Amino acid sequence: MIHFVGAGSGSADLITVRGARLLGEADCVIYAGSLVNPDVLQYAREGCALHDSAGMTLEEVLAVMADNERAGKATVRLHTGDPSLYGAIREQMDRLEELGLTYDVTPGVSSFCGAAAALRAEYTLPEVSQSVIITRMAGRTPVPEGEQLRKMASHGCTMVLFLSTGLLEEAERELLAGGAYTADTPAAIVYKATWPDERVFRCTVGTLAKTARDNHITKTALITIGGFLGTEYERSKLYDPAFSHGCREARG
Ligand code: SAH
Repeated sequence: MIHFVGAGSGSADLITVRGARLLGEADCVIYAGSLVNPDVLQYAREGCALHDSAGMTLEEVLAVMADNERAGKATVRLHTGDPSLYGAIREQMDRLEELGLTYDVTPGVSSFCGAAAALRAEYTLPEVSQSVIITRMAGRTPVPEGEQLRKMASHGCTMVLFLSTGLLEEAERELLAGGAYTADTPAAIVYKATWPDERVFRCTVGTLAKTARDNHITKTALITIGGFLGTEYERSKLYDPAFSHGCREARG
């Protein structure tokens, strides 16, 4: 059996209980060494074969998986954060299906959740934003035409940019071109969320590139944008004494 496991955003104890158990049972772990905290490998048992996929191709990863399956061994494919976001797992799953090999997926704490924790923020504040756009700048991997950053930025909702730290000058221009954010809209750069060397830089849309430059942040960071980083919001209806719902009658 092959298990895709989300390692979580950084801190080793953010892996799920299930993910840690599967690591402990694995004969072989293929981990994304460029972003998975090596401390997570402490859950693997002694003698477990470790492969860093950073220097491997899809074909090489699949060959290791197939060899292990033939030998009746358990493989964990360890991805950073949650594997469903920019994880390149679909192509692995499709090849495994073609090969008739069985697999399952254990989710993980995505870095965008780790970033909210680092910011002590809530992405979905009443009357501020009830939607989160997770996207990226087009780089060497293109972004479909309908998802150009300026179009995504036209909503003015909470936005989280992955994989874009090296492109912040262009990101600023695109975010402003959307028409809903201004140069003063609050923003934050979260570097290595939940890692021991996590750093948070609060800024504005207009100062994103400068903030990254001044602090030498070039990778392993998320860019968050929107009014959720500000001070204004409405309290929730759910916990409002004057509001009745399925679990509680309005009081007073
Ligand atoms: N599947 C992962 C994302 C992989 S793409 C997840 O769910 O988090 C890799 C990008 O994610 C990085 O370029 C960076 O933008 C972001 N990233 C991953 N871990 C991060 C962390 N701990 N802090 C900030 N950004 C992170």
